[in-house]
Amino acid sequence: MNQNNLPPYAIFCDFDGTITTEDTFTGMLKAVAPHLCDQYLPDIYAKRITLREGVRKIIESIPSHCYSAMLAYVDEIPLRAGLQELVKFASANQIPFHVVSGGIKDMVIRVLTHQLLHNRPLIEQIASIHAVEIDTSQAYLSPISDYEAGTELVAKVKVMEQYPAQTTISIGDSITDLNIALNADITFARDRLAYYLDEAGTFYYHWDDFFTVRDRLAKLIQV
Ligand SMILES: [Mg+2]
Repeated sequence: MNQNNLPPYAIFCDFDGTITTEDTFTGMLKAVAPHLCDQYLPDIYAKRITLREGVRKIIESIPSHCYSAMLAYVDEIPLRAGLQELVKFASANQIPFHVVSGGIKDMVIRVLTHQLLHNRPLIEQIASIHAVEIDTSQAYLSPISDYEAGTELVAKVKVMEQYPAQTTISIGDSITDLNIALNADITFARDRLAYYLDEAGTFYYHWDDFFTVRDRLAKLIQV
């Protein structure tokens, strides 16, 4: 496709620790399977095992009857301020807002359905949601990802390639966002992701909440 035919911008936003104020996926795993997290999380963060192996091993060790309690965990977690305002800004400027998560898709759907924008579920304003789907039909959970590749259970860069734009924008907070952050044209980073990008010597905009992102984008984009 000719570059000029592409939409000017597209936003790719992480979920856990980005839309939620804490890493819901990790928090939930720690609640449901603390011993496995002690075993695998330090190795994942230190990059001694891949996200793909580590997250898969943890999920596959959780009995399926725990699933509904796992999803309910997210109801207690506060969201980061300004999400509605950023989604509103994106939609007013015809910028597709994609949610790309290495966490559990049902959890993302649950949160975005409960959030309202103009009295409508926020999820109606979201262009797409890509995350790990869970098969609960067996004794233990089984993760299903259409975008499993390389070291990642959800290869966010592959998702981004599905929705090309002249300028891609990524928003994230941790190691699952590292590859997309390195590949997006504009990157917003906080917490652990900012540290990884400092290490890689990659430029990014630091963000505190979604108001920071909206205000920076309002300056950057020329619609
Ligand atoms: Mg995250």
